Amino acid sequence: MKTASGKDAFTIKKTLIELRKDQYVIKNAYRRPIIPNKLIHQRNILPLDGEIALGKDGSLISSGIVLTDPVVCSAILCNYSKLKEDSWGDFESDMWYLLTDFDAISGVALEPYPLYLRLVEYKVDGMQNIDIQKALEEEFGIKHSVEYISSLWRNKIPKLIAEAAEDDYLNWYYTQVEKGKFKKCSRCGQVKLAHNKYFSKNKTSKDGFYSICKCCRNSKKK
Ligand SMILES: [Zn+2]
Repeated sequence: MKTASGKDAFTIKKTLIELRKDQYVIKNAYRRPIIPNKLIHQRNILPLDGEIALGKDGSLISSGIVLTDPVVCSAILCNYSKLKEDSWGDFESDMWYLLTDFDAISGVALEPYPLYLRLVEYKVDGMQNIDIQKALEEEFGIKHSVEYISSLWRNKIPKLIAEAAEDDYLNWYYTQVEKGKFKKCSRCGQVKLAHNKYFSKNKTSKDGFYSICKCCRNSKKK
């Protein structure tokens, strides 16, 4: 199966990087001194010198180095090998936790997109866009322009990962901190958090949200 091989390859790549401990490079490029917080680690999103909070309307507010920020996700991707090598063996370090969370979240975010996973693998390997274009065409039979490949890498992929990190945070918050309401979409039947990330607001309905989830409403429009 293509999906599995893409994901496996990414995992193998990560393992290889982890094994290359002789290639440690200088620390500090990314590490900032912060107080490790094991409790925060458990919720899969580590604010590294950063914070996540919820606004009054339930919207997510973040600052600093957090995975809900696409810019942070992009920076991690662009420096992935180096960060992995730097933090290898330092299992208590915040960077180690951040990368572990990043791996888990990006795995979830990119699983439906085998081509994106492969692209990430090539990029982490240091391949040039022109070679990636060829390799992707060979494997997936689609020729994407180098500009498109570049924009996937710079925009789309970091955004997908940040989105998944948001989902993860909201899910954690509304099950562990505050009991959130979950509702079933009347179209796709999926149970989702009654939150404006998943359901558009509707003043005339009882719970303040439409009965059809945003995903379904958007696909109906198209
Ligand atoms: Zn739906």
